[in-house]
Amino acid sequence: MKEVYLDYAATAPIDLDVKQAVDEANEKYFGNASSLHTIGQRAKGQMEQARETIARYINAAEANEVYFTSGGTESDNWAIKGIALAQMEKGKHIITSAIEHHAVLHACEFMEKMGFEVTYLPVARDGSVRIADLKAAIREDTILITIMAANNEIGTIQPIKEIGEIARKRGILFHTDAVQALGSMPLDVQAMQIDLMSISAHKVYGPKGVGAMYIKKGTEIENLMHGGAHELRRRAGTNNVPGIVGFGKAVELLKQNEAVYVAHYTQMRDYLRDRIENELDEVILNGHQEKRLPNNLNVSFAYVEGEALLLSLDMEGICVSTGSACSSGSLKPSHVIEALGLDENYLHGTVRFTVGRQTTKEDIDYTVDRLKSVIARLRSMSPLYKDSKNS
Ligand SMILES: *Cc1c(COP(=O)(O)O)cnc(C)c1O
Repeated sequence: MKEVYLDYAATAPIDLDVKQAVDEANEKYFGNASSLHTIGQRAKGQMEQARETIARYINAAEANEVYFTSGGTESDNWAIKGIALAQMEKGKHIITSAIEHHAVLHACEFMEKMGFEVTYLPVARDGSVRIADLKAAIREDTILITIMAANNEIGTIQPIKEIGEIARKRGILFHTDAVQALGSMPLDVQAMQIDLMSISAHKVYGPKGVGAMYIKKGTEIENLMHGGAHELRRRAGTNNVPGIVGFGKAVELLKQNEAVYVAHYTQMRDYLRDRIENELDEVILNGHQEKRLPNNLNVSFAYVEGEALLLSLDMEGICVSTGSACSSGSLKPSHVIEALGLDENYLHGTVRFTVGRQTTKEDIDYTVDRLKSVIARLRSMSPLYKDSKNS
């Protein structure tokens, strides 16, 4: 059966050039980057080259402002817990948004249990944080603003340059989760006045289990991992050199080809969007329609259940994701979809399509053709849909 992968925001397959670099590093650069001997230093050399590549790509002032971690989740946890612990003398208030990734939201909820206060900013119908809300939420004791660069479910890009400017002016640290943004939009930590930024390799066709955090020089942050002196004594643990080399290679590819990738994502996504809009009725496109990630299409179909749609598409070989998470036996829409304030009939029928480098026009045609019959079948079983047609 044909298989169509449209879940690139969950993870992307490793690029073959990246895989080759990882394989080579596993063989040739197996040394511990902290060892003083030649084989250790050879591995360190490769790691430092990757750091340099990534630092330059995000326009960090110095390569040493990039710290390697195990991924986006660790970077998000480190930013929030590390800043909270290091800055608690100044205050115990954190500002975030209602639609952050769980790595941010759950870390913030944990800090609430530790005695911190967190403001969760609501978002507009298009998923954007309102600058006026942010300004109103800032207090004397606010120590951190953490707002994602682009949302993983609905694709909305946040006004992070404006947020960075406000934070810097008020003397508040600004962290952004840029895991989805990396490779899809320009990221310049200096121009955007970012103090901390989380990124991850596997969302940009790199290996899984490796990521990084940009920490602006001079930022006081507590360690999350305690142990050896790795990563300038800030993140203990033997470096995942092959993973880091792969991350460096993945970013090098972005540097060379980002415009080509983005053009392809946009073309595939727009083709999918146009076919869905023209050939299906009672659909809503979620997220901001211009300020959005080029590879993301998030659609709510009235009178269908997202999970039923996902599973029906999976039976046709099509991999997508829903915004929902099964909790306590009831199908609850995700926190992101819930924050948008959708009409009840659309709330539960949300599906995310994310296209990638391997996506073809044939994939999209196959998907839309199957989608149409699946939607028709699911709606034919919905009493609410029948009622809406009879009234
Ligand atoms: C995937 C993702 C993460 C988590 O990154 P991992 O490397 O998988 O831990 C965090 N934030 C966003 C926005 C993501 O999309």
